Amino acid sequence: MEFKIVGGSIVTMSEIGIVRDGCIIVEDGEIIDVGSRDIASRYPGYDKIDASGCVAIPGLINCHHHIAMGLLRGYADDLALSEWLEKWVWPFESKLTGYDIYVGALLTAVESILSGCTTVNTMYHYAPDYSEAKAIMDSGMRGVVGHVCFSWRREDDLKLTDHLYREWHGKDGRIRVSIDPHACYTVDPSYMVELHNLCLELNDKNHESPVTFHTHLAETEDEPVKVKKAFGVETGKSVVSYMENLGVLDEYTVAAHCVYVSEDDISILAKRRVKVVHCPVSNLKLSSGIAPIPAMLKRGVKVTIGTDSVCSHNRSDMFETMKFTALIHKGVCRDPTVMPAFSVLKAATISAAEALMWDKLGAIKPGYYADIAILDFRKPHLMPLYDEYSHIIYAARGSDVRYVLIDGKLVVDEGRITTVDVEWLLEEAVKARDSVLDRIHS
Ligand SMILES: [Zn+2]
Repeated sequence: MEFKIVGGSIVTMSEIGIVRDGCIIVEDGEIIDVGSRDIASRYPGYDKIDASGCVAIPGLINCHHHIAMGLLRGYADDLALSEWLEKWVWPFESKLTGYDIYVGALLTAVESILSGCTTVNTMYHYAPDYSEAKAIMDSGMRGVVGHVCFSWRREDDLKLTDHLYREWHGKDGRIRVSIDPHACYTVDPSYMVELHNLCLELNDKNHESPVTFHTHLAETEDEPVKVKKAFGVETGKSVVSYMENLGVLDEYTVAAHCVYVSEDDISILAKRRVKVVHCPVSNLKLSSGIAPIPAMLKRGVKVTIGTDSVCSHNRSDMFETMKFTALIHKGVCRDPTVMPAFSVLKAATISAAEALMWDKLGAIKPGYYADIAILDFRKPHLMPLYDEYSHIIYAARGSDVRYVLIDGKLVVDEGRITTVDVEWLLEEAVKARDSVLDRIHS
């Protein structure tokens, strides 16, 4: 498909800066030209999207999620992390079929796309028949998908990870696979090293589409105690130094949370080029704490953001997460100059693309993938306009998204998703919930 997006502001997140009353030309999945409205006349016959009064941004990239948990939204709230996981989430998940995983993942994918997110990094139990990967594919989204690994099912995990990689890595140019140890307290040291070696081996074979290493790290204060209890090993100073000593922290590592990190830990994260995913809403809701993000950025750590699952967020809306990211550190640091709007949008676009090692994503510029979200600014809460970054971070909502292109395809048109029958999906979500609850109570 060929499109010309005409009018409105283009927030390119590249050296081009912001183009006002601009035009974006899309051809065969790529952006081929960006400029003023005048360039539109050079492309007769291209389908026109009228973006007058709108603002185009690179599609947002959500770097930590468990999209299949769509069915658990609102199932268990206001609980401590261990009780939440052990008494509620894990028993519910043990009753999920592959199809339930697919429906939950599709629900989150559709919700994400409708609020301007075009790429997601997600970790969940992989089922060969239905999976998060299939949901991402069917929704039209782009994603990095991993099978979550635990020590107690090592052999099955390795088989499923291998199946996931062979079936899905590189598929349609929209799906990539990652290696996903759940956390250092659920994956024993030798298995952690084995999984990291697997990641390195796959990257040795395949340079075009890197395989990342996605895990939870230092989410709660008690992780050193949990490692000791589970595997009888001392982590030493911290779980970050423990992982460093295991040799599993490097540029492939995408570490969600990193709330409990010391100055020394921040040095390690910077030195090893670990990508940190800040999930402020999830950390607040589960009362885990607040990650020292401004200190990390100051020391050169690559920081991105994620919603985490809708069981701990409870919306897969990156606009909400971006606003929390901008506000929370101002309050903690008592400094309104930290986390300015541009830096937060950067974390959700270009830094996120770098974190997932996915080239040609995260900016609107020629040669990049046509992953674009267009927000309608003709609304009372977005008027008048002085600064696009300010409105995007502090005033806009996911529901302001009017058009979304992913890989050059129009997946949201006039606020409606074009790839999935939403009415059918909502009915399937209710049916899946009921059948899981029946299985839990029978
Ligand atoms: Zn998580």
